[in-house]
Amino acid sequence: MPLPRTRHATLDDVTAASYAPAMACIFCKIVGGEIAAEVVAKEPRVTAFLDVQPLADGHVLVVPAAHVACIEELEPADADALFRVVARLAGPVRKAVGAAGTTVGVNNGEATGQTIPHVHVHIVPRWPDDGAGSIHTIFPRGERRPLADVGAAIRRAKGG
Ligand SMILES: [Zn+2]
Repeated sequence: MPLPRTRHATLDDVTAASYAPAMACIFCKIVGGEIAAEVVAKEPRVTAFLDVQPLADGHVLVVPAAHVACIEELEPADADALFRVVARLAGPVRKAVGAAGTTVGVNNGEATGQTIPHVHVHIVPRWPDDGAGSIHTIFPRGERRPLADVGAAIRRAKGG
């Protein structure tokens, strides 16, 4: 089965995704201090704060200051800063709530269930008996294309 084809973004998409929502974007407002949040880390390029609808105690969102919808739109310096903060926070978050581990995840694109078009990395504390599954449990089992074909397609898409 071929991978789904994605269309190229139009100027309307850029306007809709990058400009209009930035003014109304709740994460931009939190980053800018316009809306209060329980901030746990703050850097020029990255802000981390507690999710107001936590999936578990200690559920943190780590967001770039840049209003971009998907991780592939992040500038390298923003991507570096974002994941550096994620790595640095995962331990303290776990420790603060006495968790056994954390699930770290990104809904990357509207089709994945991303509701706010501003990149955000979830750090969700986990316990062995918390009733939530692993990332694997969100995907149904099914037949997949041969790895070699998919690997080659990805290498081609990224230009070698
Ligand atoms: Zn935003």
